[in-house]
Amino acid sequence: MKHFLALFFFLFICISSHSQGLLQAKDYFSEQDTLRGSITPERAWWDLNFYDLKISVQPDKKFISGSNTITYTVLTPQQILQVDLQPPLHIEKVTQDGEKLDVRSNINAHFITLKKEQKKGAKNKITVFYSGIPRTAKNAPWDGGFSWEKDSNGKDFVATSCQGLGASVWWPNKDHMYDEVDSMAISVTVPKGLMDVSNGRLKAVIEDETTTTYEWEVLNPINNYGVNVNVGDYVHFGEQYPGEKGVLDMDYYVLKDNLEKAKTHFKDAPKMMKAFEHWFGPYPFYEDSFKLVEVPYLGMEHQSSVTYGNQYNKGYLGRDLSGSGWGLKFDYIIIHEAGHEWFANNITYKDIADMWIHESFTTYSENLFVDYYYGKEAAQDYVIGTRKLIQNDRPIIGAYHVNNEGSSDMYFKGANVLHTLRHVLNDDEKWRSILRGLNKEFYHATVTTAQIESYISKAAKIDLSAFFEQYLRTIEVPVLEYHYDGKKLKYRYTHIVAGFAIPVSVSTAGKELWITPTAEWKTSKLKGDTSSFKINRNFYINHKAVVQ
Ligand SMILES: [Zn+2]
Repeated sequence: MKHFLALFFFLFICISSHSQGLLQAKDYFSEQDTLRGSITPERAWWDLNFYDLKISVQPDKKFISGSNTITYTVLTPQQILQVDLQPPLHIEKVTQDGEKLDVRSNINAHFITLKKEQKKGAKNKITVFYSGIPRTAKNAPWDGGFSWEKDSNGKDFVATSCQGLGASVWWPNKDHMYDEVDSMAISVTVPKGLMDVSNGRLKAVIEDETTTTYEWEVLNPINNYGVNVNVGDYVHFGEQYPGEKGVLDMDYYVLKDNLEKAKTHFKDAPKMMKAFEHWFGPYPFYEDSFKLVEVPYLGMEHQSSVTYGNQYNKGYLGRDLSGSGWGLKFDYIIIHEAGHEWFANNITYKDIADMWIHESFTTYSENLFVDYYYGKEAAQDYVIGTRKLIQNDRPIIGAYHVNNEGSSDMYFKGANVLHTLRHVLNDDEKWRSILRGLNKEFYHATVTTAQIESYISKAAKIDLSAFFEQYLRTIEVPVLEYHYDGKKLKYRYTHIVAGFAIPVSVSTAGKELWITPTAEWKTSKLKGDTSSFKINRNFYINHKAVVQ
């Protein structure tokens, strides 16, 4: 998500008013949380290959119906398979090879008893038929479901969003992030006069008497919450972008009345592509194209169909979250949500506890966009400007195996932690090679925090385990304590985890010095005095003069 973020008062209001929203603090986990958030035995034995999702959307009744045919490979023979679908939607029947199967339901989790022997290595299919009135989004995209809106001409304007809540809020699937299908087909039937835009490429349009069916094809692995249905009175324009991997189709679907505005405003999209291919490597889904799709909520990183609802403003709904002025140079939603194509859609968390992998890198990407077009100082102003939004209320990493994400600090604190790391390395080319290397090493993969940490440590040739421990798993900000003893500077870190010892650049009276504090007092020759002592502003570290 999104991108979320927020204006604190806005965030505060939406988080406090909805108990199920993304980023909501939680101190109790239910059986349902475990069924949703863990790799249960009924999930672990089979590997997802392909989803063939067919859905009919009836906006006048707020009703949907359809089926999902799931192709999977048997890893370890078992006979009971878990599929998720959230009430009030209900499963009508499940079949395998035309035979109807028994289903035992536990609210959102449905346990299907297979009749056919499941042989190791076999590729099998089941089809889940379902229907009902799906949950209406209370505050999309953070508290999602279906958004049933009308455009200014009174035409239906409908969209799905489901990060955190789970894709099973609108279609049946294996609703855990560790396993992605290799590819997918999405067929959406809508009333005549409306268009559906989903993920990937449009392969066919089938006209019926009162409906039109749009068939979309996704050739790459896709995570569940990245799948989406967007229905509206869309018009299309597009361009061919000369990218690192060749020609990339960039397509834009907007409401008819917004076409002219969008043609100017969406010029940020190719600018984004240029900056992010520079920093992160090739766009990860050339085969599926890149799209921006207008929706009736703020936006979401739906894979290859990034949804857009920033109302054609610069900044975040017209505001600069950083307060530096640089945030009004670009459309926050275009830059942030598209940044997720690398960190969220290409590199995807296995467990939502590790959601920082999506949000910290993507929030950080905003300042790399500023860096690319306006230079380093501007980028520093931008990312440092967002520090005032850090809360240090809870750790950035959430609880594992219960579908729980950590603090919203994964946005601004996470961005500042990565910015700090860039300056710890003090080698921009190496840093860029690490960002590109991550996208290559974990191409189309689901990952854990441990994998990301270990990749960066190895590539940087520095053991960063204490650094990540400090910033991701505690709410303490390191404090550099210092003291002048004649002409010498004495210093140490406090409020740190064991082993935290990152180098930092400091200065007094304009003279810069690199020091590597630890928990023990150390001494350096640095003339100056307490009043002119400064830490290089790029390091997210507090400092405090002490008297000894
Ligand atoms: Zn985001």
